[in-house]
Amino acid sequence: MAKLALRRYDDPILRKKAVSVEAITPAIERLAADMVETMVGSNGVGLAGPQIGQLLRIFIIRDEMLAEDGNYVMGPPEVIINPTLSSPSEEKVSMVEGCLSLPGLYVDVIRPKVIHVRYMNLKGEWVEEMLDGFRARVTMHENDHLNGVLTIDRIDKRERKKAEPHLLAIKKKYHS
Ligand code: ZN
Repeated sequence: MAKLALRRYDDPILRKKAVSVEAITPAIERLAADMVETMVGSNGVGLAGPQIGQLLRIFIIRDEMLAEDGNYVMGPPEVIINPTLSSPSEEKVSMVEGCLSLPGLYVDVIRPKVIHVRYMNLKGEWVEEMLDGFRARVTMHENDHLNGVLTIDRIDKRERKKAEPHLLAIKKKYHS
């Protein structure tokens, strides 16, 4: 496994629409393993194809799990391929989101509380799930990446303006 180079704001690849994964090939398995390594090595809870320069509809998530001692711990990484989200709940919730492509920037994002997902796992099986809470949140964030959407597109103008100096700093650090 290898750690891949992260793409950060405002790399144009983060704004492109990713294409479906055609089949689970050894190359896709290797990509998924490298993405897991990259995400875990960066202490992330999610990582999507475009963030490592691959315009493919694949992302990795780590759900949180309740441990025996009552604390939340990170669950095992899961590979989500060609997801389709549907039936978002009318109830929306606000949660703070960070992003490996927007290092150090944390913004409140309002999204549906519950959503349905259909996706392919690394074995090539289709899986359907109703998602709630943290799992729904991470999945919606990563799915946005497949469509070229970032957290800063989902905040109001005032918040976006507040984030501007931070965005400029990221740009300067990684793209100058
Ligand atoms: Zn992100």
